Amino acid sequence: MTHKTVHLHGDLYDYLLNVSLREPEVLRQLREETARHIYGSMQITPEQGQFMALLVEITGARKLLEIGVFTGYSSTRLALALPPDGRVTALDISEEYTATARRYWALAGVSDRIDLRLGPALETLAALVGEAANSYDLAFIDADKTSYDGYYEYALQLLRPGGLLLIDNVLWGGKVADPAIDDANTTALRALNTKIHHDPRVSAVLLPLADGLMLARKR
Ligand code: SAH
Ligand code: CA
Repeated sequence: MTHKTVHLHGDLYDYLLNVSLREPEVLRQLREETARHIYGSMQITPEQGQFMALLVEITGARKLLEIGVFTGYSSTRLALALPPDGRVTALDISEEYTATARRYWALAGVSDRIDLRLGPALETLAALVGEAANSYDLAFIDADKTSYDGYYEYALQLLRPGGLLLIDNVLWGGKVADPAIDDANTTALRALNTKIHHDPRVSAVLLPLADGLMLARKR
């Protein structure tokens, strides 16, 4: 099908960043450090971070959930957008990756806004549902793709009605559209996209931002 979405070839992407990116210095440093990490490409893009921070500002969200912290770019960006009494519950399984995140939370002055819970996220979420169902304003899912369906179901329980859900990498480098590709990650993302399309519990849009960002509102 022909379409009207502009293709962000190198020069145009550079232009977009040059003309619109406002990135705090501490995040620029974190991005530079993470770019040298072997899994550095897992980090969200800076314009995506700016978009997510703007959503926090627009909605006045104060209680956030992040599933997948890595070296801390998205959590730092979100925490900086919060009012002083705002909080992020941040889930990850890696002590090693999140040591970098904790260093940058301190540099950015947001350590006291972030509650890091280390462990398999599905287990942490099961416990959280007991403590804090229907209370989060915004949730961001960005951990292991085969667990996305579980993360989605828990996030829906944890969000308040009207709360926002953001799901990263839903276009998966284009693999979701190639029927010849049927690895576990691609299959999981494809299934979740289809499920959300028909899910009466949410209103949603799939944004072709970065690697594809699903934005959903819990009804
Ligand atoms: N949002 C981050 C990127 C996250 S990368 C950023 O913008 O920088 C994915 C993260 O998911 C990794 O840090 C990895 O440790 C974590 N992860 C993978 N499997 C997990 C699991 N089962 N439970 C919790 N975290 C997990
Ligand atoms: Ca991601």
